[in-house]
Amino acid sequence: MDLDAYRGSAEAFVSALTAEYYGHFAGLKDDYEIEAIYERHADLFAADRVRALQELAGSATPGTDEQRRRRMLLDFAVEGRLGQATKTIEAEIARREAELSLVLDGERIGFRESAVVQSNEPDPERRARIDRARLEAIERDLNPLYRDALKLQHAGARELGFASYRDMCAELKAIDLERLHAQTAAFADATEASYATVLDPELRRTLDLGLGDLRRSDLPRFFRAADQDVHFPAAALMHSFADTMAGLGIDIEHQRGVVLDVEARRKKSPRAFCAPVRVPGEVYLVLSPVGGRDDFAVLFHEGGHTEHFAHVDPVLPFEFRQLGDNAITEAYAFLFQHLVEDPGWLARHLGVTDPDAIAAHARAQRLLYLRRYTGKLAYELELHAGDGTGERELRGRYCALLGGALKVDWPGESYLSDVDPGFYCAAYLRAWALETQLRAHLRERFGERWWSELEAGQALRALWRDGQRLTAEELLGELTGAELDFGVLLEDLDLA
Ligand SMILES: [Zn+2]
Repeated sequence: MDLDAYRGSAEAFVSALTAEYYGHFAGLKDDYEIEAIYERHADLFAADRVRALQELAGSATPGTDEQRRRRMLLDFAVEGRLGQATKTIEAEIARREAELSLVLDGERIGFRESAVVQSNEPDPERRARIDRARLEAIERDLNPLYRDALKLQHAGARELGFASYRDMCAELKAIDLERLHAQTAAFADATEASYATVLDPELRRTLDLGLGDLRRSDLPRFFRAADQDVHFPAAALMHSFADTMAGLGIDIEHQRGVVLDVEARRKKSPRAFCAPVRVPGEVYLVLSPVGGRDDFAVLFHEGGHTEHFAHVDPVLPFEFRQLGDNAITEAYAFLFQHLVEDPGWLARHLGVTDPDAIAAHARAQRLLYLRRYTGKLAYELELHAGDGTGERELRGRYCALLGGALKVDWPGESYLSDVDPGFYCAAYLRAWALETQLRAHLRERFGERWWSELEAGQALRALWRDGQRLTAEELLGELTGAELDFGVLLEDLDLA
């Protein structure tokens, strides 16, 4: 097998697919024509190619870059093979989501748009009705498709010789999922009592209700933090981002290959994203600002991804530029997202003199997210164990694990849509730990205001050049000698 030729067409495929994703979800084109792209590159995912890559990955010398590259290519090929099997379903889900609308109090709201409407709705009863209508649409119009896709993914993993989809992801992504589960479960245990203490006052302040009355439908409104709008004016959004980057020596206005797509467009997805079509040469940051703090958090998050990808060394092999451990890019994204709750940054860039309420809300939200993802990991480990657990049972486990983690009644309808493929939840969890350790490292080297030091910018750019060559664990080990540790999150949240 000609590995270099394979790498070349793999890169062309990733670029085409990412460009299509950008076009559809940025609202530039209605269709989401991924099937044609898969067909053009069908060779990449043929059974004999995947088998050949399995052999090549197994025969490379452990710990070498060549082994890393082959493992990443195999992970790519397997994901592509499963993606090819589910591409028609995936395209149909995207089409239905774009077309579906919910009827509420005689008014029609787009399915995708409904999440934003819900986060802006002050009336809890109406929030619950929006949530209910969306869940009913998921159950009726999307779950049959999700179920089919899941069956295909699980069968695909077994066909490739893995005991389960879960084993497959652990091996191909080089993540010890069991160990991670033990670490995050310990985090959940350690925060079991403080969760209510941290969350309750913030719920009362922002939603005027306590944890005992909280419903799942209230969460988008809680995250929206409307009471903080005054501190986060829309006019400061792009400026504060450009100024922050300038402080680190990055001139985003004149950055080649970076497109900041922040204009309103009717069919643009409300969910922001970064689309690295070519790394480092063509990276899109897509955002639909709705006002308030979340816009800042989301812009800085996606901005972290964008700057990471835009600074990758162009001579690195394709695997290290566009594949690899996504906990790395997520950690850079969280590093910048975290700035919009940093008191020093808030004072410098937004003139906030009393950052206490912002910090308290951010702390509660972070704890909630960490516990939610701990629950998600526990659930997805069961979902993807492939031990024949029935559908009814899985739904029940989803409600129990998510509801237990957040101490909220958790509806079951989203038990398949609330799942990111390839254990992406594990990338987020490891990224939160890595970001906390990376941030501590930057503070130690460059001071509390590391984000305004040109030298910190240089240090970040040096890290970014390496793309995603290393795993999160390896990167941290090389940088500080430490191990990825969830205890640091307890300390960072002041709960140790
Ligand atoms: Zn991200």
